[in-house]
Amino acid sequence: MKKKLASLAAIAALSVSMLAGCSSETKFVTEAEGAQKPILIQGPMPIEAEKFAQRLDNVKVEKSGNFIFYKGKLDKYPVIVAKTGKGMENTAAATAIAIEKYDPAAIINQGTSGGHDPSLNVYDIVLGERTVNIGSLKTGHLEAGEGIDPTNWIPMDLMASEGSAGEDPNAEKIRYYEGDENLLAAANAVKDKYTKGKVVEGTIGSADVWNNEVDRINWFHENYGTSVEEMEGAAAAQIAGAYDVPFLGIRILSNNKTNGGQYDPNTAAANQDYVYEVVKQYISEIKGK
Ligand code: SAH
Repeated sequence: MKKKLASLAAIAALSVSMLAGCSSETKFVTEAEGAQKPILIQGPMPIEAEKFAQRLDNVKVEKSGNFIFYKGKLDKYPVIVAKTGKGMENTAAATAIAIEKYDPAAIINQGTSGGHDPSLNVYDIVLGERTVNIGSLKTGHLEAGEGIDPTNWIPMDLMASEGSAGEDPNAEKIRYYEGDENLLAAANAVKDKYTKGKVVEGTIGSADVWNNEVDRINWFHENYGTSVEEMEGAAAAQIAGAYDVPFLGIRILSNNKTNGGQYDPNTAAANQDYVYEVVKQYISEIKGK
């Protein structure tokens, strides 16, 4: 009787351990995948996101509000492409939602831009060593009838304090968001794979404004050091910074008013091809660690 019980217990123990064996193997895979935080690639317009999304494997599409997330794999590593829509508000919201939902390891905001630097041509690419909001401004004090004087406007840093930015002299400065060192290193490492123009480090300026006044463009170039302007990067950088997620802006020039560079929408696809190489490189660096 005792013997029979013991052998039954042994069979039970064996089947439990077999089951445990199976499930722990499944669990191992799930855990390994879970440990791989996705890399988030943002593009505002369909032409700035869909090309990248098409190159991912096993894509699952998820929507939140107007924002579309293409969840897939690149070199077996999780990558999410987000179509954010144009502009600062869309981008800020899409960034916060993506961070809350997907907990990304890093964020790249990429797309087209307008040149502020006359030495940069359409198809050149700027890696955002820094990103800055060029719509955050405080005007001078003028009375009724004294007109409007934009060259006397000064920068306003809304992140300087929780107090009034209008009154606080500490808020009268430019806030730059630094590009992440490791993302910049990955982008620089594959620079030579891009053959349609040059790849340089620079300053990306963002606002919900399309500047066509060359004197105003030059004013930003001189006072903020901007290489290019667009409408999203600084919003994404600000929110990524709020959550401490590594961030980099990568912008191709689709137009440059300072040197007569005409708008070319095909630049959007060229930038995605380059960013694809950057992401591959970044993944290989993560896997090597
Ligand atoms: N040429 C397009 C422009 C789209 S709106 C059209 O007429 O439909 C602007 C988008 O292009 C934004 O997502 C912005 O990031 C980018 N962009 C490209 N060049 C720009 C520029 N010179 N100034 C501001 N945004 C620019």
